[in-house]
Amino acid sequence: MKRIVILGAGESGAGAAVLAKKQGLDTFVTDMGSIKPEYKELMDQYGISWEEGKHTEELVLTADEVIKSPGIPDHAPMVKKIKEKGIPVISEIEFAGRYTDAKMVCITGSNGKTTTTSLIYHIFKQAGLNVGLAGNIGKSLALQVALENHDYYVIELSSFQLDNMYDFRAHIAILMNITPDHLDRYGNEMQNYVDAKFRILQNQTEDDAFVFWNDDPIIRRELKRYGIHARLYPFAQAKEEGLVAYTEEEKVYFTQPMAFNMEQEELALTGVHNLYNSMAAGISANLAGIRKEDIRHALGTFQGVEHRLEHVCRVRGVEYINDSKATNVNSCWYALQSMTTPTVLILGGKDKGNDYSEIKELVSQKCKGLIYMGLHNEKLHDFFDGMGLPVADVQSMKDAVAAAYRMTEPGDTVLLSPCCASFDLFTSYEDRGRQFKECVRNL
Ligand code: ADP
Repeated sequence: MKRIVILGAGESGAGAAVLAKKQGLDTFVTDMGSIKPEYKELMDQYGISWEEGKHTEELVLTADEVIKSPGIPDHAPMVKKIKEKGIPVISEIEFAGRYTDAKMVCITGSNGKTTTTSLIYHIFKQAGLNVGLAGNIGKSLALQVALENHDYYVIELSSFQLDNMYDFRAHIAILMNITPDHLDRYGNEMQNYVDAKFRILQNQTEDDAFVFWNDDPIIRRELKRYGIHARLYPFAQAKEEGLVAYTEEEKVYFTQPMAFNMEQEELALTGVHNLYNSMAAGISANLAGIRKEDIRHALGTFQGVEHRLEHVCRVRGVEYINDSKATNVNSCWYALQSMTTPTVLILGGKDKGNDYSEIKELVSQKCKGLIYMGLHNEKLHDFFDGMGLPVADVQSMKDAVAAAYRMTEPGDTVLLSPCCASFDLFTSYEDRGRQFKECVRNL
Protein backbone atom coordinates (compact mmCIF):
# COMPACT_ATOMS: atom_id res chain seq x y z
CA MET A 1 0.00 0.00 0.00
CA LYS A 2 1.32 3.45 -0.88
CA ARG A 3 2.60 5.26 2.21
CA ILE A 4 1.89 8.97 2.56
CA VAL A 5 3.60 10.98 5.29
CA ILE A 6 2.31 14.42 6.10
CA LEU A 7 4.67 16.98 7.61
CA GLY A 8 2.83 19.57 9.68
CA ALA A 9 -0.67 19.06 11.07
CA GLY A 10 -2.29 22.42 10.53
CA GLU A 11 -5.35 23.08 8.37
CA SER A 12 -3.72 21.75 5.20
CA GLY A 13 -1.95 18.78 6.84
CA ALA A 14 -4.96 17.52 8.76
CA GLY A 15 -7.15 17.88 5.65
CA ALA A 16 -4.62 16.02 3.50
CA ALA A 17 -4.54 13.23 6.08
CA VAL A 18 -8.31 12.76 5.94
CA LEU A 19 -8.26 12.65 2.16
CA ALA A 20 -5.33 10.21 2.06
CA LYS A 21 -7.02 7.93 4.56
CA LYS A 22 -10.29 8.03 2.65
CA GLN A 23 -8.39 7.07 -0.49
CA GLY A 24 -7.17 3.96 1.33
CA LEU A 25 -3.53 5.06 1.59
CA ASP A 26 -1.22 4.20 4.49
CA THR A 27 -1.27 7.61 6.20
CA PHE A 28 0.99 9.05 8.91
CA VAL A 29 1.11 12.64 10.23
CA THR A 30 4.06 14.17 12.07
CA ASP A 31 4.46 17.65 13.55
CA MET A 32 7.52 19.13 15.31
CA GLY A 33 5.29 21.44 17.33
CA SER A 34 2.06 20.74 19.15
CA ILE A 35 -1.07 19.93 17.17
CA LYS A 36 -4.26 21.87 17.83
CA PRO A 37 -6.92 19.81 19.64
CA GLU A 38 -9.45 20.22 16.81
CA TYR A 39 -7.03 18.63 14.31
CA LYS A 40 -6.18 15.77 16.69
CA GLU A 41 -9.88 15.09 17.07
CA LEU A 42 -10.43 15.13 13.31
CA MET A 43 -7.56 12.70 12.69
CA ASP A 44 -8.68 10.39 15.50
CA GLN A 45 -12.15 10.36 14.05
CA TYR A 46 -10.71 8.87 10.85
CA GLY A 47 -8.30 6.53 12.63
CA ILE A 48 -5.20 8.33 11.33
CA SER A 49 -1.92 7.78 13.19
CA TRP A 50 -0.02 10.91 14.18
CA GLU A 51 2.79 12.18 16.41
CA GLU A 52 3.68 15.62 17.76
CA GLY A 53 6.78 17.31 19.18
CA LYS A 54 9.10 15.20 17.00
CA HIS A 55 9.65 13.58 13.61
CA THR A 56 10.47 9.88 13.99
CA GLU A 57 12.87 9.22 11.13
CA GLU A 58 11.99 5.56 10.55
CA LEU A 59 8.35 6.51 10.23
CA VAL A 60 9.02 9.42 7.87
CA LEU A 61 11.74 8.09 5.59
CA THR A 62 9.69 5.02 4.67
CA ALA A 63 7.21 7.24 2.81
CA ASP A 64 6.52 6.88 -0.90
CA GLU A 65 5.47 10.50 -0.98
CA VAL A 66 5.52 13.39 1.51
CA ILE A 67 2.97 16.18 1.74
CA LYS A 68 4.62 19.24 3.30
CA SER A 69 2.84 22.14 4.93
CA PRO A 70 3.73 25.42 3.14
CA GLY A 71 4.97 26.86 6.45
CA ILE A 72 7.89 24.42 6.69
CA PRO A 73 10.94 25.71 4.78
CA ASP A 74 13.05 23.54 2.48
CA HIS A 75 16.06 23.91 4.75
CA ALA A 76 14.31 22.25 7.71
CA PRO A 77 16.49 19.23 8.65
CA MET A 78 13.77 16.62 8.06
CA VAL A 79 12.87 18.06 4.64
CA LYS A 80 16.55 17.88 3.65
CA LYS A 81 16.73 14.22 4.67
CA ILE A 82 13.55 13.41 2.75
CA LYS A 83 14.96 15.07 -0.36
CA GLU A 84 18.32 13.35 0.02
CA LYS A 85 16.49 10.02 -0.01
CA GLY A 86 14.75 11.05 -3.21
CA ILE A 87 11.23 10.92 -1.76
CA PRO A 88 8.92 13.25 -3.71
CA VAL A 89 7.62 16.23 -1.70
CA ILE A 90 4.31 17.77 -2.78
CA SER A 91 1.85 20.33 -1.42
CA GLU A 92 -1.61 19.62 -0.08
CA ILE A 93 -3.16 21.38 -3.09
CA GLU A 94 -1.21 19.19 -5.50
CA PHE A 95 -2.39 16.11 -3.63
CA ALA A 96 -6.04 17.18 -3.44
CA GLY A 97 -6.06 18.13 -7.13
CA ARG A 98 -5.60 14.44 -8.05
CA TYR A 99 -8.94 13.46 -6.59
CA THR A 100 -11.35 15.98 -8.08
CA ASP A 101 -12.60 17.01 -11.52
CA ALA A 102 -13.83 20.36 -10.25
CA LYS A 103 -12.84 23.55 -12.07
CA MET A 104 -9.98 25.28 -10.31
CA VAL A 105 -9.84 29.07 -10.09
CA CYS A 106 -6.43 29.90 -8.62
CA ILE A 107 -5.17 33.27 -7.44
CA THR A 108 -1.60 34.28 -6.74
CA GLY A 109 0.48 37.47 -6.60
CA SER A 110 2.45 39.43 -4.03
CA ASN A 111 -0.56 41.48 -2.92
CA GLY A 112 -4.31 41.21 -3.34
CA LYS A 113 -4.64 37.43 -3.17
CA THR A 114 -7.03 37.16 -0.24
CA THR A 115 -9.19 40.05 -1.36
CA THR A 116 -9.50 38.76 -4.92
CA THR A 117 -10.06 35.17 -3.81
CA SER A 118 -12.81 36.21 -1.38
CA LEU A 119 -14.40 38.45 -3.99
CA ILE A 120 -14.51 35.69 -6.62
CA TYR A 121 -15.97 33.28 -4.07
CA HIS A 122 -18.61 35.89 -3.18
CA ILE A 123 -19.64 36.35 -6.83
CA PHE A 124 -19.77 32.60 -7.56
CA LYS A 125 -21.72 31.90 -4.37
CA GLN A 126 -24.19 34.73 -4.96
CA ALA A 127 -24.75 33.41 -8.47
CA GLY A 128 -25.72 30.05 -7.00
CA LEU A 129 -22.72 27.99 -8.13
CA ASN A 130 -21.60 25.03 -6.04
CA VAL A 131 -18.25 26.52 -5.00
CA GLY A 132 -15.65 25.95 -2.27
CA LEU A 133 -13.09 28.43 -0.91
CA ALA A 134 -9.61 27.05 -0.22
CA GLY A 135 -5.86 27.65 -0.06
CA ASN A 136 -4.60 30.12 2.49
CA ILE A 137 -8.14 30.87 3.58
CA GLY A 138 -11.04 28.78 4.74
CA LYS A 139 -10.99 25.01 4.96
CA SER A 140 -8.22 23.07 3.24
CA LEU A 141 -8.85 21.96 -0.34
CA ALA A 142 -8.07 18.36 0.64
CA LEU A 143 -10.73 18.27 3.35
CA GLN A 144 -13.33 19.70 0.99
CA VAL A 145 -12.41 17.20 -1.72
CA ALA A 146 -12.68 14.43 0.88
CA LEU A 147 -15.99 15.47 2.43
CA GLU A 148 -17.78 17.81 0.05
CA ASN A 149 -18.19 17.79 -3.65
CA HIS A 150 -17.94 21.18 -5.26
CA ASP A 151 -18.05 22.02 -8.96
CA TYR A 152 -15.64 24.92 -8.52
CA TYR A 153 -12.87 25.71 -6.07
CA VAL A 154 -11.53 29.22 -5.65
CA ILE A 155 -8.02 28.81 -4.27
CA GLU A 156 -5.55 31.34 -2.88
CA LEU A 157 -2.03 30.14 -3.65
CA SER A 158 1.08 31.50 -1.98
CA SER A 159 4.46 31.06 -3.63
CA PHE A 160 5.25 28.45 -0.95
CA GLN A 161 2.31 26.33 -2.04
CA LEU A 162 3.27 26.71 -5.68
CA ASP A 163 6.82 25.56 -4.88
CA ASN A 164 5.58 22.01 -4.40
CA MET A 165 3.08 21.79 -7.21
CA TYR A 166 3.87 19.76 -10.32
CA ASP A 167 0.86 18.26 -12.14
CA PHE A 168 -1.89 20.47 -10.74
CA ARG A 169 -3.82 22.35 -13.41
CA ALA A 170 -5.53 25.70 -12.88
CA HIS A 171 -8.46 26.19 -15.28
CA ILE A 172 -8.41 29.89 -14.50
CA ALA A 173 -5.06 31.20 -13.22
CA ILE A 174 -4.90 34.75 -11.89
CA LEU A 175 -1.65 36.60 -11.28
CA MET A 176 -2.27 39.94 -9.59
CA ASN A 177 1.26 41.40 -9.45
CA ILE A 178 4.84 40.56 -8.50
CA THR A 179 6.82 42.75 -6.10
CA PRO A 180 9.63 41.69 -3.76
CA ASP A 181 8.41 39.63 -0.79
CA HIS A 182 9.62 36.62 1.21
CA LEU A 183 13.01 36.85 -0.48
CA ASP A 184 14.58 35.27 2.61
CA ARG A 185 12.90 31.98 1.61
CA TYR A 186 14.20 32.27 -1.97
CA GLY A 187 17.95 32.62 -1.36
CA ASN A 188 17.51 36.42 -1.71
CA GLU A 189 17.07 35.85 -5.45
CA MET A 190 14.09 37.71 -6.88
CA GLN A 191 14.04 35.44 -9.94
CA ASN A 192 13.44 32.36 -7.76
CA TYR A 193 10.38 34.04 -6.27
CA VAL A 194 9.16 35.13 -9.73
CA ASP A 195 9.59 31.59 -11.05
CA ALA A 196 7.58 30.22 -8.11
CA LYS A 197 4.70 32.56 -8.98
CA PHE A 198 4.77 31.52 -12.64
CA ARG A 199 4.32 27.89 -11.65
CA ILE A 200 0.62 28.75 -11.51
CA LEU A 201 0.69 28.47 -15.33
CA GLN A 202 2.30 25.07 -15.59
CA ASN A 203 0.01 22.40 -17.10
CA GLN A 204 -2.46 24.97 -18.45
CA THR A 205 -3.82 24.13 -21.92
CA GLU A 206 -5.43 26.24 -24.64
CA ASP A 207 -8.80 25.54 -22.97
CA ASP A 208 -7.66 27.40 -19.85
CA ALA A 209 -7.40 31.09 -19.03
CA PHE A 210 -4.58 33.23 -17.68
CA VAL A 211 -5.84 36.48 -16.11
CA PHE A 212 -3.19 39.05 -15.18
CA TRP A 213 -2.47 42.71 -14.48
CA ASN A 214 -1.01 43.97 -17.75
CA ASP A 215 0.88 46.94 -16.25
CA ASP A 216 3.11 44.86 -14.00
CA PRO A 217 6.64 45.21 -15.46
CA ILE A 218 7.79 41.84 -14.15
CA ILE A 219 4.77 39.95 -15.49
CA ARG A 220 5.21 41.61 -18.89
CA ARG A 221 8.87 40.70 -19.00
CA GLU A 222 8.27 37.09 -17.96
CA LEU A 223 5.38 36.57 -20.39
CA LYS A 224 7.89 36.72 -23.21
CA ARG A 225 10.09 34.08 -21.56
CA TYR A 226 7.42 31.50 -20.83
CA GLY A 227 5.70 29.38 -23.45
CA ILE A 228 2.14 30.07 -22.33
CA HIS A 229 -0.57 27.80 -23.71
CA ALA A 230 -3.61 29.33 -22.02
CA ARG A 231 -5.76 32.08 -23.47
CA LEU A 232 -4.66 35.49 -22.16
CA TYR A 233 -6.97 37.84 -20.24
CA PRO A 234 -4.99 40.98 -19.43
CA PHE A 235 -6.54 43.86 -17.48
CA ALA A 236 -5.34 47.37 -16.59
CA GLN A 237 -6.69 50.75 -15.62
CA ALA A 238 -6.26 52.66 -18.89
CA LYS A 239 -7.83 51.43 -22.11
CA GLU A 240 -5.39 49.75 -24.44
CA GLU A 241 -5.57 47.36 -27.38
CA GLY A 242 -6.06 43.76 -26.28
CA LEU A 243 -7.25 44.39 -22.72
CA VAL A 244 -10.16 42.34 -21.47
CA ALA A 245 -10.99 44.79 -18.68
CA TYR A 246 -10.19 48.51 -18.41
CA THR A 247 -11.74 51.80 -17.31
CA GLU A 248 -12.91 54.71 -19.41
CA GLU A 249 -14.84 57.79 -18.31
CA GLU A 250 -15.62 56.46 -14.80
CA LYS A 251 -16.85 53.12 -16.15
CA VAL A 252 -15.30 49.65 -15.91
CA TYR A 253 -15.52 47.69 -19.16
CA PHE A 254 -15.36 43.92 -19.49
CA THR A 255 -15.03 42.80 -23.10
CA GLN A 256 -14.95 38.97 -23.05
CA PRO A 257 -16.46 36.44 -23.25
CA MET A 258 -19.56 38.57 -22.68
CA ALA A 259 -19.23 42.34 -23.00
CA PHE A 260 -20.69 44.49 -20.23
CA ASN A 261 -19.80 47.53 -18.17
CA MET A 262 -20.60 49.14 -14.85
CA GLU A 263 -20.04 52.47 -13.13
CA GLN A 264 -16.75 52.50 -11.23
CA GLU A 265 -18.66 54.12 -8.39
CA GLU A 266 -20.81 51.01 -8.04
CA LEU A 267 -17.81 48.85 -7.02
CA ALA A 268 -17.99 48.02 -3.34
CA LEU A 269 -14.20 48.11 -2.90
CA THR A 270 -12.41 51.42 -3.36
CA GLY A 271 -8.85 52.35 -4.34
CA VAL A 272 -6.92 51.56 -7.51
CA HIS A 273 -5.62 48.24 -6.14
CA ASN A 274 -9.18 47.15 -5.46
CA LEU A 275 -10.15 48.17 -8.97
CA TYR A 276 -7.61 45.59 -10.16
CA ASN A 277 -8.97 43.02 -7.72
CA SER A 278 -12.51 43.70 -8.94
CA MET A 279 -11.42 43.42 -12.58
CA ALA A 280 -9.69 40.08 -11.99
CA ALA A 281 -12.76 38.81 -10.16
CA GLY A 282 -15.18 40.12 -12.81
CA ILE A 283 -13.21 38.46 -15.63
CA SER A 284 -13.17 35.13 -13.78
CA ALA A 285 -16.89 35.26 -13.13
CA ASN A 286 -17.48 36.16 -16.75
CA LEU A 287 -15.38 33.14 -17.81
CA ALA A 288 -17.47 30.92 -15.54
CA GLY A 289 -20.56 32.03 -17.46
CA ILE A 290 -22.15 34.03 -14.65
CA ARG A 291 -24.74 36.53 -15.85
CA LYS A 292 -23.58 40.12 -16.10
CA GLU A 293 -26.39 41.35 -13.81
CA ASP A 294 -25.18 38.93 -11.14
CA ILE A 295 -21.54 39.96 -11.54
CA ARG A 296 -22.44 43.64 -11.30
CA HIS A 297 -24.57 43.08 -8.26
CA ALA A 298 -21.95 40.98 -6.45
CA LEU A 299 -19.12 43.42 -7.24
CA GLY A 300 -21.30 46.12 -5.73
CA THR A 301 -22.23 44.32 -2.52
CA PHE A 302 -19.00 42.67 -1.38
CA GLN A 303 -18.27 43.52 2.25
CA GLY A 304 -14.46 43.46 2.05
CA VAL A 305 -12.05 41.40 4.10
CA GLU A 306 -10.99 42.17 7.68
CA HIS A 307 -7.65 44.05 8.06
CA ARG A 308 -7.55 45.15 4.40
CA LEU A 309 -8.40 48.85 4.20
CA GLU A 310 -11.14 48.06 6.67
CA HIS A 311 -13.19 51.02 7.81
CA VAL A 312 -13.28 50.90 11.63
CA CYS A 313 -15.31 53.95 12.66
CA ARG A 314 -15.39 57.71 12.77
CA VAL A 315 -14.38 59.36 16.05
CA ARG A 316 -14.92 63.13 16.39
CA GLY A 317 -15.00 63.50 12.64
CA VAL A 318 -11.81 61.48 12.09
CA GLU A 319 -11.94 58.31 10.00
CA TYR A 320 -9.95 55.30 11.28
CA ILE A 321 -8.83 52.64 8.76
CA ASN A 322 -7.32 49.26 9.59
CA ASP A 323 -4.94 48.00 6.90
CA SER A 324 -2.89 45.80 9.24
CA LYS A 325 -2.42 43.23 6.46
CA ALA A 326 -0.16 45.73 4.68
CA THR A 327 3.00 43.86 5.63
CA ASN A 328 5.11 45.19 2.77
CA VAL A 329 5.83 48.62 1.30
CA ASN A 330 3.91 48.06 -1.92
CA SER A 331 0.60 47.39 -0.18
CA CYS A 332 1.04 50.56 1.92
CA TRP A 333 1.63 52.45 -1.35
CA TYR A 334 -1.82 51.39 -2.58
CA ALA A 335 -3.43 52.22 0.74
CA LEU A 336 -1.95 55.73 0.74
CA GLN A 337 -2.90 56.20 -2.86
CA SER A 338 -6.55 55.67 -2.02
CA MET A 339 -6.58 58.24 0.82
CA THR A 340 -8.69 61.29 0.08
CA THR A 341 -8.24 63.39 3.24
CA PRO A 342 -5.14 64.44 5.27
CA THR A 343 -3.77 61.24 6.77
CA VAL A 344 -1.82 60.25 9.84
CA LEU A 345 -0.01 57.04 8.95
CA ILE A 346 0.89 54.45 11.58
CA LEU A 347 3.73 52.29 10.28
CA GLY A 348 6.60 50.14 11.50
CA GLY A 349 7.17 46.70 12.98
CA LYS A 350 9.46 43.93 11.90
CA ASP A 351 11.26 45.24 8.84
CA LYS A 352 11.90 42.68 6.06
CA GLY A 353 14.64 44.76 4.42
CA ASN A 354 12.20 47.47 3.33
CA ASP A 355 12.99 50.23 0.87
CA TYR A 356 10.72 53.11 1.85
CA SER A 357 11.60 55.28 -1.14
CA GLU A 358 8.61 53.70 -2.94
CA ILE A 359 6.15 55.55 -0.64
CA LYS A 360 8.13 58.76 -0.03
CA GLU A 361 6.27 60.85 -2.58
CA LEU A 362 2.84 59.65 -1.45
CA VAL A 363 3.76 60.33 2.18
CA SER A 364 4.59 63.92 1.27
CA GLN A 365 1.35 64.30 -0.73
CA LYS A 366 -1.09 62.58 1.63
CA CYS A 367 0.30 62.57 5.17
CA LYS A 368 0.08 65.18 7.89
CA GLY A 369 1.87 63.07 10.49
CA LEU A 370 3.69 59.78 10.99
CA ILE A 371 3.64 57.40 13.90
CA TYR A 372 6.45 54.89 14.14
CA MET A 373 5.32 51.81 16.00
CA GLY A 374 7.98 49.20 16.64
CA LEU A 375 10.79 48.07 18.87
CA HIS A 376 13.35 49.46 16.41
CA ASN A 377 12.25 52.68 14.77
CA GLU A 378 15.69 53.98 13.85
CA LYS A 379 15.34 53.18 10.14
CA LEU A 380 12.01 55.05 9.99
CA HIS A 381 13.54 58.07 11.74
CA ASP A 382 16.48 58.09 9.34
CA PHE A 383 14.25 57.85 6.29
CA PHE A 384 11.25 60.07 7.08
CA ASP A 385 12.26 62.62 9.76
CA GLY A 386 13.86 64.90 7.18
CA MET A 387 10.47 65.42 5.49
CA GLY A 388 9.42 67.86 8.21
CA LEU A 389 6.20 66.11 9.26
CA PRO A 390 5.25 65.73 12.92
CA VAL A 391 6.33 62.28 14.07
CA ALA A 392 5.76 60.17 17.17
CA ASP A 393 7.63 57.16 18.45
CA VAL A 394 5.54 54.46 20.16
CA GLN A 395 5.92 50.91 21.37
CA SER A 396 2.28 49.89 21.78
CA MET A 397 -1.00 50.16 19.88
CA LYS A 398 -2.59 52.11 22.72
CA ASP A 399 0.09 54.78 22.46
CA ALA A 400 -0.09 54.76 18.67
CA VAL A 401 -3.82 55.46 18.64
CA ALA A 402 -3.48 58.10 21.39
CA ALA A 403 -0.74 59.85 19.40
CA ALA A 404 -2.85 59.69 16.22
CA TYR A 405 -5.80 61.16 18.10
CA ARG A 406 -3.67 64.14 19.17
CA MET A 407 -2.35 64.75 15.66
CA THR A 408 -5.72 64.85 13.91
CA GLU A 409 -8.68 67.18 13.51
CA PRO A 410 -12.17 66.61 12.05
CA GLY A 411 -11.98 65.64 8.38
CA ASP A 412 -8.68 63.75 8.74
CA THR A 413 -7.97 60.03 8.43
CA VAL A 414 -5.86 57.73 10.58
CA LEU A 415 -4.44 54.82 8.59
CA LEU A 416 -2.76 51.78 10.09
CA SER A 417 -0.76 50.40 7.12
CA PRO A 418 2.50 49.27 8.67
CA CYS A 419 4.70 48.09 5.70
CA CYS A 420 6.13 45.55 8.11
CA ALA A 421 5.45 42.20 9.74
CA SER A 422 3.90 42.39 13.20
CA PHE A 423 6.01 39.98 15.22
CA ASP A 424 7.97 42.48 17.31
CA LEU A 425 4.95 43.77 19.28
CA PHE A 426 2.07 41.50 18.22
CA THR A 427 1.43 37.81 17.66
CA SER A 428 0.15 38.31 14.10
CA TYR A 429 -1.22 40.93 11.74
CA GLU A 430 -4.70 39.92 12.91
CA ASP A 431 -3.74 40.62 16.53
CA ARG A 432 -2.32 43.99 15.46
CA GLY A 433 -5.48 44.89 13.54
CA ARG A 434 -7.80 43.81 16.34
CA GLN A 435 -5.85 45.77 18.95
CA PHE A 436 -6.07 48.81 16.68
CA LYS A 437 -9.84 48.47 16.37
CA GLU A 438 -10.26 47.99 20.09
CA CYS A 439 -8.13 51.03 20.97
CA VAL A 440 -10.00 53.16 18.43
CA ARG A 441 -13.38 52.07 19.80
CA ASN A 442 -12.19 52.96 23.31
CA LEU A 443 -11.25 56.52 22.35
P1 ADP B 1 -2.50 39.00 0.06
O1 ADP B 1 -3.46 37.90 0.39
O2 ADP B 1 -1.83 38.81 -1.27
O3 ADP B 1 -1.54 39.34 1.14
P2 ADP B 1 -4.63 40.93 0.59
O4 ADP B 1 -5.83 40.90 -0.25
O5 ADP B 1 -4.70 40.30 1.94
O6 ADP B 1 -3.41 40.31 -0.21
O7 ADP B 1 -4.15 42.42 0.76
C1 ADP B 1 -2.90 42.69 1.42
C2 ADP B 1 -2.58 44.15 1.40
O8 ADP B 1 -2.28 44.56 0.08
C3 ADP B 1 -3.71 45.01 1.89
O9 ADP B 1 -3.14 45.86 2.83
C4 ADP B 1 -4.23 45.76 0.69
O10 ADP B 1 -4.47 47.10 0.99
C5 ADP B 1 -3.11 45.64 -0.35
N1 ADP B 1 -3.63 45.22 -1.66
C6 ADP B 1 -4.77 44.57 -1.92
N2 ADP B 1 -4.91 44.32 -3.25
C7 ADP B 1 -3.80 44.81 -3.84
C8 ADP B 1 -3.34 44.86 -5.21
N3 ADP B 1 -4.06 44.37 -6.24
N4 ADP B 1 -2.14 45.45 -5.42
C9 ADP B 1 -1.41 45.96 -4.41
N5 ADP B 1 -1.80 45.96 -3.13
C10 ADP B 1 -2.97 45.38 -2.83
